[in-house]
Amino acid sequence: MNIVYDIAIIGGGIGGYTAAIKAAKNGLKVALFEKGKIGGTCLHEGCIPTKTFLQLSNKYQDIQKLKKMGFSHFQRPNIEELNWEQFLSYKNQTISQLFTGLQYLVQKNKIDFFPEKVDSIVKKEFFDVLSKKTTISAKEIIMATGSVPFVPNKVNEVFEKVLSSDQLLELKELPTSIAIIGSGVIGIEFATFFSQLGIPVSIIEKEQYILPTIDRDISNKLKEKLIKNGVNFKMGYEVDFNSFVESAENVRFTTTKDGIANEESAQYVLVAIGRKRFNGDLLLEQMDLNKDQLEVNEHLETTQKGLYVIGDASGNIQLAHAASHQAEIVIERILGNKEVKYDEFYVPKCIYSYPEVSSIGLTEEEAKKDYNVKVGRFQLSGNGKSVITGETDGFIKVVVDEKTDRILGVHIIGDKATELISEASLALLVEATSMEIGFTIHPHPTVSEIFNEAALAVNGQEIHS
Ligand code: FAD
Repeated sequence: MNIVYDIAIIGGGIGGYTAAIKAAKNGLKVALFEKGKIGGTCLHEGCIPTKTFLQLSNKYQDIQKLKKMGFSHFQRPNIEELNWEQFLSYKNQTISQLFTGLQYLVQKNKIDFFPEKVDSIVKKEFFDVLSKKTTISAKEIIMATGSVPFVPNKVNEVFEKVLSSDQLLELKELPTSIAIIGSGVIGIEFATFFSQLGIPVSIIEKEQYILPTIDRDISNKLKEKLIKNGVNFKMGYEVDFNSFVESAENVRFTTTKDGIANEESAQYVLVAIGRKRFNGDLLLEQMDLNKDQLEVNEHLETTQKGLYVIGDASGNIQLAHAASHQAEIVIERILGNKEVKYDEFYVPKCIYSYPEVSSIGLTEEEAKKDYNVKVGRFQLSGNGKSVITGETDGFIKVVVDEKTDRILGVHIIGDKATELISEASLALLVEATSMEIGFTIHPHPTVSEIFNEAALAVNGQEIHS
């Protein structure tokens, strides 16, 4: 008799493998299908490689500080001295170390791993999951099939020097100049990387503002800093994806602003205008469920009971920690905890730019629609540790409900912003008040003290400003 799995998971990215490990740890029988490599986008083409890139450019920029601290004759190496091949192999080793760890975890947790593409799901007594080689039955299904870069006219497949983010990470040389189309998180992070290495970067964006979901004070500040670092912003410019021409030297294309056409050129072009959720090319018709109906409720369940979609494929915010959180919610529900549900309010957003940006909860503008708000701010220049490290450019903003003193949102720009936001995540989860954060003892000297100061500043009680 065939084994009936408790859960079949399609896609072994961070959403899928988190679900698989948690389910297996709780005694469920799990089948995990992955057509590529376990770890998915985050490990192979997303979070990990891009942050390794940024580690290089951050360190390259940072060594200038040695000059100020006493190595007065210190000369930063020229960018031409960088052994790009060696760096790529460092990046690949980082991925490979984490990849080996994940393979071990799948084995250790006795997850049945199928390195195959699932072609269809059919509902009979149980769900039947079919690939070319394998058919299994499962009581519940989790689709965690991710997303793919959105590139109009597939210009990245037609032209050698027009790239998606996946292709950029495998580039065989450092560009001498780059035009980045799109000022979302991916565009901004790559702009940070290239500008820190001193490579001319222009960002072409059809909207008027960068990072539309981020607090406006913060996104304006980041744009200002990037401009200072040499990034050329072309806001309100619409790219004509039919106009691309490539030569040995560069790529040229046309943009339009206010009805006026402009010629753009750069050695390389990165198209970073978003990613489309991907349903795995799965045939689902036999279940009265076509791809367009794959909407999920707050429990991440589709209209087909027992079929869940998590991560990028769910249409929710495209972040690795959102995908793994959704995985935990679904497994909790399958295990019988019916209380848990997904709420994007609690998902921190991080941008690993220079300076870093992080944010959780409501922005000041959003909060004002439903609450009378008070705002506490604190500048990094008033923080001892920031002065020591020389990273004083930035601030934190805490948005609070005036009536209850409950924290509604926290927004940070500055050094370590992506690390600092975890405390704010906890504060929102436990519905902490600004008073409680103001009374929480933060070690000195640490950058984390800025949260304490900003919380005190809500009532004008901050100490160092
Ligand atoms: P994925 O990781 O995409 O996994 C889906 C998996 O499903 C893939 O491995 C695919 O091969 C498999 N699959 C698809 N169809 C089938 C099928 N039919 N059968 C079998 N297998 C199938 N997020 C952050 O939080 N922090 C960051 O710093 C960050 N940086 C990023 C940088 C870049 C350049 C990019 C592109 C993304 C970044 N992200 C970041 C986003 C993050 O990578 C994604 O949100 C996350 O990987 C989504 O995980 P997932 O499990 O939903 O999908």
